[in-house]
Amino acid sequence: MSSYREPTIRGDDEPPAAEDRALRPTRMADMVGQREVYERLMIAVDAARKRGDVLGHILLDGPPGLGKTTFATCIPRELGTTLQIASGAALAAPKDLLPYLSNAAEGSVLFIDEIHRLPIAVEEFLYPAMEDFRIDITLGEGVAARTINMPLRPFTLIGATTRPGLISKPMRDRFQVREHLDYYSPEDLAEIIRRSAVKLELPMDDATADEIARRSRGTPRLANNRLRWVRDYSTSRAAGSLDLAIARTALEMQGIDILGLDGFDRRYLETIQRVFGGGPVGIEAIAHTMSSAPDTLEDDVEPFLLRCELVIRTPRGRRLTARGEEHLSGLSPGPGPGRLF
Ligand code: ADP
Repeated sequence: MSSYREPTIRGDDEPPAAEDRALRPTRMADMVGQREVYERLMIAVDAARKRGDVLGHILLDGPPGLGKTTFATCIPRELGTTLQIASGAALAAPKDLLPYLSNAAEGSVLFIDEIHRLPIAVEEFLYPAMEDFRIDITLGEGVAARTINMPLRPFTLIGATTRPGLISKPMRDRFQVREHLDYYSPEDLAEIIRRSAVKLELPMDDATADEIARRSRGTPRLANNRLRWVRDYSTSRAAGSLDLAIARTALEMQGIDILGLDGFDRRYLETIQRVFGGGPVGIEAIAHTMSSAPDTLEDDVEPFLLRCELVIRTPRGRRLTARGEEHLSGLSPGPGPGRLF
């Protein structure tokens, strides 16, 4: 839409790497997979556009790299409006939110990534902004303190989180639309890889796209990363040619196995197996042993391993499953058709 302006990147947020931007779909129609979520969001967007209303607030949750930011950047394009991007981690106090709220044009979108990291004071400051499009500012202190209301132009908040469980109920209830993004099927990932290969001007047969898809952990971001690595390998070691065998060699060289797990994922499984006798073991203990942060393990590593049933969570901690043992011993046959998704 002609009135669309490039997203304003403010605050401490890292703009996405140029190549990431190049592969990110710019329109909803270019997005692959997540059909049910896609349809529901399209209906909400279409209805708002037809009625000339402001789109209701949207909360997107799901593991990293599944398309939360992509939805948040495509939606304002569909609406023909502007987008501001903020990160929950960088909004330490209500005053940090003020510029975003006062800059928000009528009907524009404010995207807050990692919204579960907002401190409670900032969250409470957001409540009237979300509900009544006003903010309460306290001036002065003690008995002399008074609160003034500042009206805002109606806007749409899109929140994204990898930890929906950490969002308070009052916050959650203020989102009219709540959607969960799940891992992509190998077929959808193969389609994303084929489209990215076209953008990168990389000729690719279907068997190669399928192989990279199978080793992408159900995640578009990783699919694109794996594709870029395969392209580098092809340029550097195979005189620019690419086929299934070359893709496999490239991915194995990076330590990416048949399920798409990388060395770090396997180290997590091995830690439970070797150090803790298969579990059950608490996440803190695993994190200490691996010199990693529990949050990283919980957000980035565990969801896919749980999904593949390589580990389970019990009240007493994480436990390796027979399938997990099998995978580590190299006997894993990989996901059978329809087995994981
Ligand atoms: P999140 O915000 O959930 O961490 P992103 O939206 O940043 O994930 O997605 C990571 C990358 O994966 C994007 O840059 C884009 O290239 C790709 N991607 C994500 N979702 C899709 C999709 N539905 N179709 C095509 N590519 C996608």
